[in-house]
Amino acid sequence: MFTPTKDSALARLADFVPRAGRDYATLRNHEDLAHVSVLSPYVRHRIITEEEVLRAVLARHSPQAAEKFVQEVFWRTYWKGWLEMRPTIWADYRRDLAGALNEIQTQAGLRQRWEAACLGQTGIDGFDDWARQLVDTGYLHNHARMWFASIWIHTLHLPWVLGADFFLRHLLDGDAASNTLSWRWVGGIQTLGKAYLAQPDNIAKYTQGRFRPEGLAQSAASLPCPPHPARGPLPVSGTIDPGQRTGLVVTEDDLSPDWLLDKISPVATAFVQTTDRRSPLQVAPIVTDFVAGAMRDCNDRFAGQLGRVSFISADAVDDWRKAEGLEQVVMAYPPVGPAADALRQIDAVRMLRTYDLDAWPHATHGFFRFKDAIPKLLGRIKGLAVL
Ligand SMILES: Cc1cc2nc3c(=O)[nH]c(=O)nc-3n(C[C@H](O)[C@H](O)[C@H](O)COP(=O)(O)OP(=O)(O)OC[C@H]3O[C@@H](n4cnc5c(N)ncnc54)[C@H](O)[C@@H]3O)c2cc1C
Repeated sequence: MFTPTKDSALARLADFVPRAGRDYATLRNHEDLAHVSVLSPYVRHRIITEEEVLRAVLARHSPQAAEKFVQEVFWRTYWKGWLEMRPTIWADYRRDLAGALNEIQTQAGLRQRWEAACLGQTGIDGFDDWARQLVDTGYLHNHARMWFASIWIHTLHLPWVLGADFFLRHLLDGDAASNTLSWRWVGGIQTLGKAYLAQPDNIAKYTQGRFRPEGLAQSAASLPCPPHPARGPLPVSGTIDPGQRTGLVVTEDDLSPDWLLDKISPVATAFVQTTDRRSPLQVAPIVTDFVAGAMRDCNDRFAGQLGRVSFISADAVDDWRKAEGLEQVVMAYPPVGPAADALRQIDAVRMLRTYDLDAWPHATHGFFRFKDAIPKLLGRIKGLAVL
């Protein structure tokens, strides 16, 4: 379904743009993939950027007609900014996941229920199909993700962190912020007290009658959880010293380094893949292959501008720096998540895109407050011509 190249992303975007207006607003909740962009594996890794998507859509539709789609693009931005200000939520998720993985080693009943859910062997109509679809394709429609997570938490009573981990191991767009915070939302611990309940009629309606599961939970109680941590400061962008012998580190969080190559001429570039750090368990090969392919495509696209290129692990960055005789290493700021964890100790100038710098400060509260800033944020995107 997904070729890991920028050309494929651009072709998919061009195909979708005519449908990004009122069609999207009215039909996007149908599980049929004809009504959504299916761009998330590309946007998640910034093979194509949010700005490129917004420019293309708003060159064709008015902001009013494309309002819903534009808001969805900004949901990713919002989640990232929200988590940046509360990084302990990610650390707590990792800790609780380790605890839950320990429990499945010692509790045979829990282990069997978890395995049945991951293998699509629960006997629940729809749920089993989505589990298999996720494993086979690396993608699920947003509504299916909501139903799946709701059944996992509220009907099967499995720990939400194991569900979030199952998604992170298999989703091509697996992302710390969007995934963790969406699972928390379904469990009623993100928007405090509001859990999401999957209902058979709603599933039947939006799957054109393909599925009508029986025996689902009739109510969704919020999971127990401490209040949100206090907001911390947002990161600031680093300062590049133009006089130094410079290397570039490219991670899977930003595979469009053109904005950095406007500022530096690296003598060496290291592509550092951290996909295997998305989970303590094995990440699906479909995911690691997608990212590895996208890194090779990035190398091809920027050939001649990257200096000497290496593909290395996070543990090898210090040795690479010494071997290349670098005085300075520059990288796109990796947001809270596996790449940031893996590269935490690396001495590097971490650069933030203007898009994130402008948007993240608005992610203080709920999305409804954030979305008021969208017209202003659109006005700051270079080359975006609003119809
Ligand atoms: C339980 C659960 C887990 C999820 N896990 C992830 C994840 O790991 N990674 C991930 O990228 N998304 C995740 N999502 C969000 C969403 O489901 C996907 O981004 C969306 O389905 C992608 O499909 P699309 O590109 O066709 O979206 P479209 O509907 O075409 O939307 C366009 C773009 O907007 C962004 N977007 C749309 N909806 C959302 C959303 N709800 N949250 C954040 N961004 C959004 C994406 O970049 C997407 O490509 C999760 C949602 C739920 C309910």
